[in-house]
Order: sequence, then structure tokens, then C-alpha cells
Amino acid sequence: MDVRAEAVVLFGATGDLVRKKLIPAIYQLALAGRLGMPVIGVARSDWDDDRLRSHARDVLSAGGRPLDGPVFDELSESLSMVVGEYSDPETYKVLADRLSGSARPVFYLAIPPSVFQDVVAGLAAVGLAERGRVIVEKPFGRDRASARALNNCLAAAFDQPDIFRIDHYLEKESVEGLLVFRFVNTILEPLWNRNYIASVQITMAEAFGTEGRAGFYDGVGAVRDVLQNHLLQVVALLAMEPPIADDADAYRDEELKVLRQIQPIDAARTVRGQYVGYLDEPGVAGDSTTETFVSTELAIESWRWAGVPFYVRTGKCMPAGATEAVIELRRPPRLLFTGHDAALPEANLIRFRLGQDDGLTMTLQAKAPGVRTITQSVDPGDFAAALGHRQEAYERLLDDAMDGRRHRFAREDTIEEEWRIVEPILDHTRRPSPYYKGTWGPAGEFLTDGWHPVSL
Ligand code: NDP
Repeated sequence: MDVRAEAVVLFGATGDLVRKKLIPAIYQLALAGRLGMPVIGVARSDWDDDRLRSHARDVLSAGGRPLDGPVFDELSESLSMVVGEYSDPETYKVLADRLSGSARPVFYLAIPPSVFQDVVAGLAAVGLAERGRVIVEKPFGRDRASARALNNCLAAAFDQPDIFRIDHYLEKESVEGLLVFRFVNTILEPLWNRNYIASVQITMAEAFGTEGRAGFYDGVGAVRDVLQNHLLQVVALLAMEPPIADDADAYRDEELKVLRQIQPIDAARTVRGQYVGYLDEPGVAGDSTTETFVSTELAIESWRWAGVPFYVRTGKCMPAGATEAVIELRRPPRLLFTGHDAALPEANLIRFRLGQDDGLTMTLQAKAPGVRTITQSVDPGDFAAALGHRQEAYERLLDDAMDGRRHRFAREDTIEEEWRIVEPILDHTRRPSPYYKGTWGPAGEFLTDGWHPVSL
């Protein structure tokens, strides 16, 4: 394994991502005894060390759980600020001085993509890039060409193995668990193909809207924010062949193969929606065509999957928050359950819940009580509770990048394939169909009906 990092540098330390995800993740690492290194914030805002420390305390206290005093004090001690413009060489000289004792710093670009180039050039100019690792947030680029340009910019300064492209879904215990379910439970493998599986339905629904980030979201939309990265990652994990080894490249190689087999999305089989009220939010253009909902069908042209539709949908202001993949098996023949008024038996469903309340459930058919032989759906149990505490994705990804573990980061070629698949639905001039908050997308449109309800 690579040597562990000796310092973490958070560009954009005053921002939303650092507040919501990175400070809590760093605290969790400190609690687990896995920090013990300087954490340096960089920003243009005139924050001193004390301001960053009190910000960290406020953020963690707002989390509701009591702080561990000694752990927080040690973490607080390790926090410091470097203030400066991202394009000013002086900022990087100060940073290089601060890092003079750190052989292996990690640089987290928690800043808008428009600033990436300046930061990478600044780090390279003072010799920090050649000994550091860089973590880049999703979405990686806005399309295939810009993803390639961003990769070239990073690769000009950092070695490829030192570039960590985040898709935090890969860091989720529950998402990684998909591979374990598939490749460790031999009961599933014989069924995992077009002979037994009728369809796959993947939902990532948010019960909330843009939460004060409408200005950012309006330039992105649901396809770039979720479909191109998170949903395609889940599709790839469900559909790929077993990796030939337990190393980062073996995983990404299999993922790449299955992504290459996915046809570009058919715009005619895609529904784009926008919730009513979105246009009134501050930061949203009055005539915005940005989608807050998308559902579509993916076709995988492989021996395992040809003819099995993979339906994916994601949206904001849905009736519930849920991240789920439902595998629908083929229905049985009618055979003995043929009472003339009896409905056909329902299909078996294997349901992976990938959100907070994660777990696996399976719907089997059992004989309904009574004289007649008819069936009803029963759930044999939910063992999420049995697995206990899960590490949060951002805690894992920081820990992984500090150690140089690349298993759970995206690779440039898989990102490019993801952009290829979504390219036909990226640029649009038509307004998305409206839907009301608290509904499952535009009413009555194909691909918004016929889904198995999410488990609540
Ligand atoms: P913010 O908009 O909060 O920006 C972070 C910081 O960057 C700001 O506090 C500001 O700090 C600086 N900044 C903002 N705009 C500019 C600008 N135009 N030029 C120079 N500096 C600027 O971003 P987020 O924290 O929301 O996101 C950071 C990165 O993470 C982005 O790449 C985003 O796409 C990605 N991301 C964010 C998520 C989130 O939930 N927030 C989720 C997934 C990805 P200062 O002015 O003090 O320098």
C-alpha cells in the first residue's frame, strides 16, 4: 500500500461541501484515531485559524450528538487557514511553507470547477503537485470533451494514481455491498441474467428540492448531477462480470466493459421533468429548461443482459427519499394457481435498499390463507439491522485517499463512457414536463408509471 498522507488541504474551506460532509468526516476519522495530521483550509474569505475552528465546532455541534472533548480539542489544534486568491502564486508559497514537513499531502478541491485549473497550476508551480494526491468532486466535467480536458489538466501536474475522482456512491458501504451480494452468495449467480430477470429498476429519489443551492443546480440538472455518475455506477455494479482480482483496476476494467455495452440513451424513451415552483427559486433562470427529474431506460447489449430493460429514475421533491434497486424476476406460469378469478402470481422481487436504511429484502410468493390456492407477496425479512453501524461515504473516501487506495474512485475511461451514454440527453431546448412536489414525476407519461413502489 502507498504511504499514508501526512496532511489534508481543503480548498474552499468556507464552502457548503466542507461544512456538510468534510468536517463531519474528518471528525469521524479523528474519533477513530485515523487523523493525527494537519488539516489546512484554503479560501479567499478572510478567515483566521480561530474562525475555522469555531466553524468546525458549530458544524459538529449542529449534528446533534455530543462532541468528544479531547478528540475535538486535538482536531481543533490541527486546523489552520491559508487565505488568498486561488490564482495568486503567493497563496501557494504560503501553503508550501506550511506543508514543508509533509511528504505526502492530500489536496481536496472543494471549490467550483471553474477554479480547478488555477489551483492545479498553483500547486504544480511550487512543487506540491509532484508529491501530493488530489481529490476531485463529481460531476467530473460537463460532457465527454470537458471531462477529457479536466483530466489533461490534472494529469499535467499529478501522476494518474494520485488523482482521486470521487463518485461517493462507490464509497457507500451499501453500494459496495452489491458486489458482495452478487459474487459471494451463490444462490444469486445462476439467476443473474436475462433468462431469469425481467427488468431492473433503480430509483434515487430526494424528498427535498435544491436546498439553497439552486444557483449551482440550475447549471447542472438531474442528468449531470445523478444519472451520469451515481445511477450509472449502480447499473454497472449490478450488471458487470466478476472482476479478475481484488484490485482497483480489475474493478474499473469490468465496469468499463459493461459501460461500453450500454447504448447511448434514447431521448425518445426519456422523460425529463421540472417541479412546479422551481422557476421561482432564487438563482434559477426564469426560463430555465433544467430538469429536476429524469427517468429513462437503458439497454445493455451483452449475452447476460440483452433484452432486459434497466429503468433508472432520479428526482427532487419526490414523495419520499429512497435509493433502491429492484430486480424483478420473471413471472411463473399460471399452472396450478388457476382459479378463474385468481390473478397471476406476482413476480419475485429482490430489493437492494442503498440509502440510509440500507439492506436487502426479497419478496417471495406464499399461499394466501384460506381454502383456495392463491398467492400473496411476503417478505422473508430485512437484515439491515444485523449489519450494524456503517461508515459514512465521505469518511471512507478521505481515509482511502489518505492511504492511496483507489478501489472506490472512478477512473477516467469509465467517466468518459458514462458521458457517452448520457450525451444524447444532455443538451435540450425543450422545457421539461412539469410535476407537482410530492409526486413521482410528470403524471401519465410513459416511464413514470409502472414502477414497483419504493419501500418506505
Ligand atoms: P461552494 O459554492 O460552497 O464553494 C466552495 C468555496 O469555494 C466557497 O466557500 C468559496 O470560498 C469558493 N468559491 C465559490 N465560488 C467561487 C468562485 N467563483 N471563484 C473562486 N472561488 C469560489 O461549493 P460546494 O462546497 O458546494 O462544492 C464544492 C465542490 O464540490 C464543487 O466542485 C461541487 O460541484 C462539488 N460538490 C458539492 C456537493 C455539495 O453537496 N455541496 C456535492 C457534490 C459535489 P471563498 O470565497 O472563501 O474562497
